[in-house]
Amino acid sequence: MNGLMHASKRIGKKMEEPIKIGVSTCLLGENVRYDGGHQLDRFVRDTLGQFVEYVPVCPEVECGLTTPREAMRLVGDAEDPKLLTIKTKVDYTGQMKKWAADKLKALEKEDLCGFIFKKNSPSSGLYRVKVYTEAGQPVKSGTGLWARAFTEHFPLVPVEEDGRLNDPVLRETFIEQIFDMKRWRETLAKPKKIGAVVDFHTRHKLLILSHSPNHYRAMGKLVAGAKQLPIAEFYRQYETLLVEALRLKTTKKKNVNVLQHMMGYFKKDLSADEKQELLEILDDYKRELVPLIVPITLYNHYVRKYGQPYLDQQVYLKPHPTELKLRNHV
Ligand code: SF4
Repeated sequence: MNGLMHASKRIGKKMEEPIKIGVSTCLLGENVRYDGGHQLDRFVRDTLGQFVEYVPVCPEVECGLTTPREAMRLVGDAEDPKLLTIKTKVDYTGQMKKWAADKLKALEKEDLCGFIFKKNSPSSGLYRVKVYTEAGQPVKSGTGLWARAFTEHFPLVPVEEDGRLNDPVLRETFIEQIFDMKRWRETLAKPKKIGAVVDFHTRHKLLILSHSPNHYRAMGKLVAGAKQLPIAEFYRQYETLLVEALRLKTTKKKNVNVLQHMMGYFKKDLSADEKQELLEILDDYKRELVPLIVPITLYNHYVRKYGQPYLDQQVYLKPHPTELKLRNHV
C-alpha cells in the first residue's frame, strides 16, 4: 500500500489523533479493479492524503473475488438490487452483503470521520449507479451495495464520491465536514456536559451560519434550552442538527451574510480606511471578482491586529488547512 496512506499531519494543536477517512482502494492507485488497473485520484491520494490517514476498502477484493475478474453490475429493484457478473450472470449479492456486515462491525473501531467512494461502481458508487433490467437495459439509478450498507450503518459520517470532489463547492463542503466531524468526536470523547457542547457551538457558530441560517437558529435554541433535556438527548439532537447543517452547501449569499455579520465586531476598531477596504473587498467577492479566501484573509489580519477574541476562535475563519486551497475557488 502507498506510504502516503499512513501519512497524517496534525491540524492545529488540538487535533492530536489523525483524521481517519475510509476510501475506495482503487482511488489510491492500487491495482484492484476488475480489469487489473486502478483509478488513482491525485487530489485524494497526494493532497488530502497529507492531512488524513486513509483506511482503504475494496469490497470486491475483500469479499473474496480475484483481480482481474469479470465486470459486474446492479440488476433488478433499484432499492434492493442484485450484484451480477455481466456475461455469466453469477450472483455475488449474498457474498458481498455477508462480507459487508462483518466489515461494518470492524470499521466501528476505526472511528471514521468520512468515506470517499469510487463513482459508478456497482459495489462502491454512491450516487446514480446504473441499475439494469434482467434483459440488460439500464433503467434506474441506485447505490452500490457496499456504499449503501456503509451509509445505512453510519448515517452521520460524511460521504462523497471522487468525481464530485472536482466541484469546488462540493469539495469544500465535504472537507469541512470531515474536519468538523473530527472536532465533534473530540468533544464526544470528553465527559458529557452542557459546557462542552456550548464551547463547541460557540466556536462553530459562524460556520454553521454559513451553511444554514435555519439550523443556526435551531441550534442556538437547543443550546439555550439544554438544561431541560437529559444530557444524552441533548447531545443526540445537537449532533443531528450539526450534521444536517454542514451537509447543506454554502453559497455566495450565505457567505456574504456571515462576512457582513462579522463586520459588526469591529465597529470600534477599524479606521475609516480599513472599513472602506473591507467593504470594497466584500463587494468584489459579491461580484465574483475575488474568491472567498480574499475577504477571509483580510478578516484574519484584522482579528490578529485588533485581538478580537470571539472571531479569533471561529472555525469559519480557519476550517481546514490553508494548503488545501479550498477557498481559492469558491
Ligand atoms: S470501485 Fe470499489 S470494488 Fe471497484 S476496485 Fe474500486 S474499491 Fe474495489
